[in-house]
Amino acid sequence: MEHLRPVPPGTELALNDDDASLAGAPSKAELQARLAELGDRLAALETALYADGSRGLLVVLQGRDTCGKDGTVRHVFGLVNPQGLAIRSFDVPTPLELRHDYLWRVHSALGPRGMITLFNRSHYEDVLVVRVHNLVPEEQWRRRYHEINTFEQMLAANGYVILKFFLHISREEQRKRLEARLDDPEKNWKFRVGDLDERARWDDYTAAYRDVLARCSTAEAPWYVVPADHKPLRNVLIAETVIETLEGMDLRFPAADPETLARRGRIV
Ligand code: ADP
Repeated sequence: MEHLRPVPPGTELALNDDDASLAGAPSKAELQARLAELGDRLAALETALYADGSRGLLVVLQGRDTCGKDGTVRHVFGLVNPQGLAIRSFDVPTPLELRHDYLWRVHSALGPRGMITLFNRSHYEDVLVVRVHNLVPEEQWRRRYHEINTFEQMLAANGYVILKFFLHISREEQRKRLEARLDDPEKNWKFRVGDLDERARWDDYTAAYRDVLARCSTAEAPWYVVPADHKPLRNVLIAETVIETLEGMDLRFPAADPETLARRGRIV
């Protein structure tokens, strides 16, 4: 199975329903077994990231309602030591947040180097929901693509490696998941009528995501489009990309203190 590849800068993607699945993907059982193996590697790499301490990893999860952001947090990042994770969800900004610039809450939510920060939604909401609902004038959100790229370049220059995943689901898969959510008492509390208004704006969101992927996939902070209709496939593709990225960071355990080592075998 092919691994995910970053969206080349400047690429306008169609984001059709067909792109939400992968022909010839392995079976569910094979993918689940593969994820369990990947979990061990991911956990070891997360320990190395913490020990090395000089770099941080920022993982951004974006996508439409029911695309599987929460499931990705649980199933992929649930495989590592929770102490090494800084997880933050971004809801509608509070009055205090609105009094600041839109990157303020995002920057202050970033975990320190040595940790994996997970953003469940992110500053990209400020060029997605904000654009689709005209929450700020157009000239303001248009400037943000450049501002976001500059912000991410600054983080990259300061030791953060950034991965951004767009969890791409098809319209039909979202219909099924919304129906299932309504039928399930453990899930329907989460349902908001507003989710259906967002679904009605499907094409507006597609246009907004297309622009995000074309304008903000950069060498320092690439976007990946994840075919997310099939959950086990989504998990494996994301886990593989995170592992390859951590492996490419050449993480090193610091050398132990020689004086401490000299005491080996002499602990009473
Ligand atoms: P999720 O759907 O991710 O499980 P919620 O149901 O809490 O989480 O939804 C969070 C809501 O907050 C989403 O509708 C999202 O569009 C909205 N939101 C996040 N950031 C912003 C923003 N900057 N401006 C306006 N709305 C935002």
